Amino acid sequence: MSPWNPLDPKVTEILTKAEDMAGITREEAVCLLRLELCSPEAYAVMALANRMSRQAFGGKGELHFHIGLNVEGCSFNCKFCSLTKQAGIFNESEEFSHEQLLAWAKKGEEQGADALNLMTTGRYRFERLLEVGAWLSREVNVPLVANTRDINHQEGEALLAHGFQGFYHAVRLREGVDSPFPVAKRIATIKVITEVGLKWANCIEPVGPEHQPEEIAELMVLARELGATYSGVMRRINFPGSPLGHHGMINELEMARMVAVSRLVMGDVPRAHCTHEPNTAALMAGANLFFPEVGSSPRETQADTGQGRGRDVAACAAIMREMGLNPSLPSNCFDAPPSDAGPQDTCPSAYPGLP
Ligand code: SF4
Repeated sequence: MSPWNPLDPKVTEILTKAEDMAGITREEAVCLLRLELCSPEAYAVMALANRMSRQAFGGKGELHFHIGLNVEGCSFNCKFCSLTKQAGIFNESEEFSHEQLLAWAKKGEEQGADALNLMTTGRYRFERLLEVGAWLSREVNVPLVANTRDINHQEGEALLAHGFQGFYHAVRLREGVDSPFPVAKRIATIKVITEVGLKWANCIEPVGPEHQPEEIAELMVLARELGATYSGVMRRINFPGSPLGHHGMINELEMARMVAVSRLVMGDVPRAHCTHEPNTAALMAGANLFFPEVGSSPRETQADTGQGRGRDVAACAAIMREMGLNPSLPSNCFDAPPSDAGPQDTCPSAYPGLP
């Protein structure tokens, strides 16, 4: 029998269900996460996720520009983060200057960023983040997304009043084990975010080879249930001396398979689908959102990741164009409704193999 046809009946059943955009269950996601990486079934999952995203998001490529506001040796000591006291990479606390932040934000705006994601370390002063949001939102016409510690309702409303439209916050894999934060506290913050009217941005992260399909699928389903604006997959990047370094790292193809499964789980809930770090494979598997990066980063050994691992907006846009996505279209994540463009508008004819 040909290896191409038929696909495994169980996988076919899940794909048929996923096509209706209603999402798939945790058990179904686990089944897909266990598929052999280069099997026809795994590629069928990626092909369907690709089609779902290109149709639902109208071929838009989203560029959400991460700007890390400060470096420090953070005493929360999350094991996957390079900005910790324990890692010993950043021993001095340092904030990037107004001039530097403004220069990054303006460049991001010029290059077509759809959002500015302002990230802080865990003990950064919340009032300072509000100040930065207030003046930056007057200087640039790009939606601001906060990425900081857990917040309460009052703080969520303050973020809105100071120019923020979104908030990135994830229940990380092995939260409470590899970090000191209880899962319940992270979920409480996510509920605050959506209740006050901020867009909730999420990712299944930081994935390493040690994470089991069950725990990954659990977070995927949580993202759909709590209404994430986007929720793709980011792998863990090990740094010198990383406490989790002995596990190794997953490769981009493994991440692309997870991106695809996450897309099927999310169904018609999201406005975009992210991956990190920027890579081509995930754009064939349902991802349409990259995070260009400057400033501090938990994956970095340099204060400014723009001088290290980070890619700028223009470089990310170029990758998207190579993959048939258009970064120049308006963002679907904030005020604009999701595009209803059909597959003929968003899938170039060079992709005859789409299901
Ligand atoms: S992830 Fe955030 S809270 Fe955890 S150590 Fe890094 S900066 Fe601190």
